[in-house]
Amino acid sequence: MPDLEADFRFTQVCLQDYLDCKRRFQLRYLIKQPWPAHVVEPADAFEHHIEQGKQFHRLVQQYVLGIQVEVLNRFAVDPPLADWWQAFLKCGLEGIPEVRFPEHTRATSLAGYGLVGKYDLIALSDAGEVWIVDWKTSRRVPGMNELRLRMQSRVYPFILSREGLRHTGNRPIEPDRITMRYWFAGDPRNPKEFTYHQEQYAEDQEFLENLIHEIEMTADEVFPLTEDKQVCRFCLYRSLCDRGVEAGSFSDLVSDVEDLGEWPEGIDLDQIEEIAF
Ligand code: SF4
Repeated sequence: MPDLEADFRFTQVCLQDYLDCKRRFQLRYLIKQPWPAHVVEPADAFEHHIEQGKQFHRLVQQYVLGIQVEVLNRFAVDPPLADWWQAFLKCGLEGIPEVRFPEHTRATSLAGYGLVGKYDLIALSDAGEVWIVDWKTSRRVPGMNELRLRMQSRVYPFILSREGLRHTGNRPIEPDRITMRYWFAGDPRNPKEFTYHQEQYAEDQEFLENLIHEIEMTADEVFPLTEDKQVCRFCLYRSLCDRGVEAGSFSDLVSDVEDLGEWPEGIDLDQIEEIAF
């Protein structure tokens, strides 16, 4: 069984995979097993949704970089992308400071490995308050408690607090200056957000270090399969694990569709500053 490579880079997606199912982490990141099944049915509708989600992220990035909205409108014609785009233009950046860095990648070193976050948007106020904004195009809008428990909600503010921003000299940012906002294209007037704080930072550090150690020390030939068979309904490996061949329904999908696309394989490593992991 392949071990964790010394240059393995942890992300919120792979850590979430590990928490959801250790075997999925092993198959996806250690064995690098090709995915033999569809995530959900109907597959065409799902793939179309993923493609439109990526297109939405590109449009927002270009908008934040200053491309004229009249130009971008031409690329947002088909539903649901056209609706997401119009919703974004109305209120996607409401209350977000003007100094904005879209599609920003930051990394830190933890427990001897790299930990990487790829942020949809980071914004900085004159007073030094920092916003992390994540665009979600999932059909389902999760509740606040569920969101707080997602690895993204722990990993993103943690990395940013530790590493700061190039713009401000890479100095650490006090946790309570960081706000994380999730903006949902399907519920654009009700973004969900929370402020980070020192106790959470300390808790996250301990939790993430322990998790990475646990993964590093696992010597099982076959990592444990999740006991929650609901998770398998939306997993590409279900035929390998003898957990059924039928895909779950797209309308019941609970994961972030963004996490099921090419990320994290799509990390542009050139964007990550040199860090001695
Ligand atoms: S099918 Fe189920 S047990 Fe197998 S890797 Fe996927 S989530 Fe884990």
